[in-house]
Amino acid sequence: GIGPYDPQNVFARILRGELPCNKVYEDEYALAFHDIAPKAPVHVLIIPKGAYVSFADFSRNASEAEIAGFTRAVGTVSRQLDLEARGYRLLSNVGEEAGQEVPHFHVHLFGGRALGALLP
Ligand code: 5GP
Repeated sequence: GIGPYDPQNVFARILRGELPCNKVYEDEYALAFHDIAPKAPVHVLIIPKGAYVSFADFSRNASEAEIAGFTRAVGTVSRQLDLEARGYRLLSNVGEEAGQEVPHFHVHLFGGRALGALLP
C-alpha cells in the first residue's frame, strides 16, 4: 500500500538541492532531470514538486492545479527534447510488484530509439 512519505528519499533531496541532478526542465509544479542509469538514448525522470509517494498517492491527493501543472510539464519536456514527432514512452512504476525503487512519484520518459514492445 501507500506508506508515509519519506522526506529523505533521493528525489526529495534532489528537490531540496541537497543532491545534484542533470536538469532538463523546471517550473512551479515539476522538475525533470536525466536518469542516472539511462535505459534509452533519452531517459528523463519527471517529478512533481509536491510530496507524493507514487502515482496512486498523487492521483488521489494532489490538487487539480498540481495534476494539471505536472501533466503539462511532461508534455513540455517531450517537446523540449524534440521527441514529439518521433514518439516516446511514458512509464511510472507504482509499488512493490512494479519494482518502484524511489518513493517519490516520478514518470520515466524514454525516447531516441525504437523502444519495442513493453510486454512479450
Ligand atoms: P523506479 O524503479 O523507482 O521507477 O525508478 C527509479 C529510477 O531512478 C531508476 O531508473 C534509477 O536509475 C533512477 N535513480 C535512482 N537514484 C537516482 C539519482 O540519485 N539520480 C538520478 N538522476 N536518478 C536516479
